[in-house]
Amino acid sequence: MSGSHVWHPFTQHAVEPAIPEIVRTEGAYLHKADGTRVLDAISSWWVVTHGHRHPRIVKAIETTASSLDQIIFAGFTHEPAERLASELVSLAPSGLDWVFYSDSGSTAVEVALKMALGYFRNIGAPRSRIVVMENSYHGDTIGTMSVGARGVFNAAYEPLLFNVDTIPFPAAGKEQETLDRFEAIASDGSVAALIVEPLVLGAGGMLMYPASVLSELKRIAEASGTLLIADEVMTGWGRTGTLFACDQASVTPDILCTSKGLTGGTIPLAATLATDAIFQAHYSADRRKTFFHSSSYTANPIACAAALANVEIWRDEPVAERVAALSARQAAGLKRFEGNPSFTDGRVTGTILALDLQADNAGYLAEIGPKLRAFFLDRGLLVRPLGNVLYLLPPYCITAEELDGLHDAIEEAGERFGAKT
Ligand SMILES: *Cc1c(COP(=O)(O)O)cnc(C)c1O
Repeated sequence: MSGSHVWHPFTQHAVEPAIPEIVRTEGAYLHKADGTRVLDAISSWWVVTHGHRHPRIVKAIETTASSLDQIIFAGFTHEPAERLASELVSLAPSGLDWVFYSDSGSTAVEVALKMALGYFRNIGAPRSRIVVMENSYHGDTIGTMSVGARGVFNAAYEPLLFNVDTIPFPAAGKEQETLDRFEAIASDGSVAALIVEPLVLGAGGMLMYPASVLSELKRIAEASGTLLIADEVMTGWGRTGTLFACDQASVTPDILCTSKGLTGGTIPLAATLATDAIFQAHYSADRRKTFFHSSSYTANPIACAAALANVEIWRDEPVAERVAALSARQAAGLKRFEGNPSFTDGRVTGTILALDLQADNAGYLAEIGPKLRAFFLDRGLLVRPLGNVLYLLPPYCITAEELDGLHDAIEEAGERFGAKT
């Protein structure tokens, strides 16, 4: 828009083409001011699950806004937060009995890290080392950047980031190296927590690893008294085929972070779930053991009501069936790319499909990224590659025909932009 004063996220304004204005969203589509529409193949940065503006969630927002707005959540409570906490405890892996609200994925992770260190301090056995997985992403705040992969995104802030220990990504055939490394680091009992994105590393390039690795990591963590933090901010709410990715490994982490799909992708809300042991470590007549954290909009009632509507949609509509059908179509679509020299490492976990485009100039900042984005946008498709990684992470309302069209477009992009050998 001309005359704009808006500084956009992850946007280099000096080279960015004109930024389209969206005036309406519906289902799998963004409607532009010029009257055309764009198929949202990445769920607007992974937040939209059922589709944009699901009527039931919109209604819950409208209804709740007529009786409640933000209320202070220290010393006061409200029904949407109470009911949502009960629902989350019953839906999450069993053993996560306490729900702490915040308002974004990053804050949910910050809360998780603080809970972990608070736990060890309060039980009188302080630990502060954090172990992370190579190529991870946990947010853009100082703490979450510290536990995420270092690179061009955070080079300027590096002096502020705290040190962590990194275990290698469990690439196919190298899973044991990851487990051995973690065991070696954790064995002396000095590690407070291992933080992982279960099954799929999102921003790190939609890297996927099997559930067996997650259950082994949990086993090693438990043996060394290390807490396991599962960052399900992206993977939660069906993305990987099950409600939470941890479900596929039958793993209950000590702390679980959820946000993005929590409200179906309508308004910001996050929750950090913790075991009773972690809550009990903070439960004391000694006020110094209080969990000292809040954000102004914690447990916003309207956002909690939107999340409750999301839970009801999961309960009353055939969402699991939609997720299963979408997952099957993605897996079938992947077959088309077997033997296609433009792509390597085709992979699917649940509803997420990813392929590495074999381009001559591939890094994240290479020109190929913006060119691919423009290529898809010209075709009315919102696809936003991570460097040379092309992925589809669509809302569950996408039709078979729309998904086929996306697979066609990716094939075409391979012909256009793939390295000519
Ligand atoms: C998006 C994301 C975050 C950060 O969430 P924000 O709401 O953007 O702060 C954290 N962890 C993972 C795995 C994510 O994908």
